[in-house]
Amino acid sequence: MEKENVCIKCYNMLDKVAEKLKLNESEIDILTIPKRTFTFSFPVIMDDGSTKIFTGYRIQFNNARGPTKGGLRFHPEVDLEDVKMLSFLMALKCAVANIPFGGAKGGVTVDPKKISKGELERVSRAYMRELYKFIGPDTDIPAPDVSTNPEIMAWMLDEYEKIIGKHAPGVITGKPVELGGSLVKDISTSLGGVFVLKEIIKEFNMKPENTKVVVQGFGNVGMNAAKILHEQKYKVIAVSDSKTGIYDEKSLEIEKVIEHKKNNKSLKGFKSAKEITHEEILELDCDVLIPAALEDQITKENADNIKAKIVLELANHPVTAEADTTLEKKRIAVVPDILASAGGVVVSYFEWVQNSMNYYWTEEEVLKKLEKYMITATKEVEKECKNFKCSIRDALYISAVNKVLDAERLRGVLK
Ligand code: GLU
Repeated sequence: MEKENVCIKCYNMLDKVAEKLKLNESEIDILTIPKRTFTFSFPVIMDDGSTKIFTGYRIQFNNARGPTKGGLRFHPEVDLEDVKMLSFLMALKCAVANIPFGGAKGGVTVDPKKISKGELERVSRAYMRELYKFIGPDTDIPAPDVSTNPEIMAWMLDEYEKIIGKHAPGVITGKPVELGGSLVKDISTSLGGVFVLKEIIKEFNMKPENTKVVVQGFGNVGMNAAKILHEQKYKVIAVSDSKTGIYDEKSLEIEKVIEHKKNNKSLKGFKSAKEITHEEILELDCDVLIPAALEDQITKENADNIKAKIVLELANHPVTAEADTTLEKKRIAVVPDILASAGGVVVSYFEWVQNSMNYYWTEEEVLKKLEKYMITATKEVEKECKNFKCSIRDALYISAVNKVLDAERLRGVLK
């Protein structure tokens, strides 16, 4: 029988794990059918006086381990199937990171680059008006994701608080620090990934000074990753944005690259390096490849040409399932997003905890806690890899799925 609302992509992603763990039908259903799915349309008055209807989504995939948690993306290609898979990955990510949240994701189908700031604010506030009844600090907590930022979180918080008539900073994370955001949140995904990488390269007997890194994507996550890695003496030899890539086999001067990007809104025209395409960058000879842009960047078309020893996924799901099999055959270690990019949601958790106490930690405290969470999660998976003699991805999925199903069992949902 066809089951309504099943996340087919999630089903496929669980394939190997379901076999290894001998999951039964009810367990697979729990893991592949989202708990709550919202699709809504809302009107926004545009600057020229016309009214435009936007489509918004929010999926609360699984809440067995705690309130659902996950970002909101504003992107022209956001659709329901995509949001389903991303909310499922959030449930696994929170389990991997050992934070007491379930998984959610949402977004609006919009190109924020094509609307004015005023329009963007009206879209953000209208989205919150549609959703406010169904979220809250103890039910579902949004955050920034692709093309959303602290300013958008602030508008949404303000709209929410106006409607409910009281302060509730814990309803959303990734807020500006002045409104209850956490220190370190702006660089948390990138820094979390660097903590994971530090552990992983030990297994390869590699040292930062002789590790060549390539970063695809120069938004908040990719740019900060390149910056932190450069500060920690890794050789960042290439970076790219959606328009172009730049390459210097010795190492790029990242501060200058960042300055160029800030001044020109693009990497194009950066003089002190060779220009290559956004796609070519993935196939460069390097030790660590960091896809930090969008989904499905390493596919069956280019997987054979990847030369890195380690792929650290800072974007959500940048390696397709087919490509993953090829990379495994080539003995390339892929560190999946549900571990590598978990730093963002870990600091979101810290933000939520600080909001609930109304007591705020110093930068040093947040950094120390983030490092502890990321290293514990990495060590846990390294142990599982050895126990199960499997890839990092399989080990992560096995342990995350077990954590979610254990919570369901304790609640009596599964026998
Ligand atoms: N958007 C980030 C992610 O995909 C952070 C989510 C959050 O902090 O809730 O992990």
